[in-house]
Amino acid sequence: MNLHYREHICSARWRLGDARLGELEAAGHRCRTCYEPGTSEAPLEVHHRTYERFGCEAIGDLTALCRDCHRVITDEIRRRRYVTIRPRIVDTAPLYERQVPLFDPTVGVNFNEYR
Ligand SMILES: [Zn+2]
Repeated sequence: MNLHYREHICSARWRLGDARLGELEAAGHRCRTCYEPGTSEAPLEVHHRTYERFGCEAIGDLTALCRDCHRVITDEIRRRRYVTIRPRIVDTAPLYERQVPLFDPTVGVNFNEYR
C-alpha cells in the first residue's frame, strides 16, 4: 500500500471513482449487510475487502456498508487477524526465573535518616 490510506480516502479519485460509485450503485445504495439505505445524515461507507489494488480498486474489491455494519465487520476482521498473535514473554521471563531482591543488599540504609 504505497498510497497513504487517509490521503486516498479523502481524495476525489476515491470519492468519485468508478469502483466506489459502481459498488454503491450495484448495492442499490443500501448496506449489503442490513439493507439500510444510506442517507445524507448517515451516508453509506464503502469497505475495502482487499487492499491489493488500493488506489485503483475494482468493484469486486469493495462492499457498500452502513457505518454500524462497517464498524462491526472491520472490528471482526481485526479480531481474527490479531487472535493469532501471542504476546512475547521472553522479555519478562527472566524476572520470574530468578529471585530478585527488593532492594540492593550491598547498600546500607540508615533508617534513622527517615525519622
Ligand atoms: Zn448495515
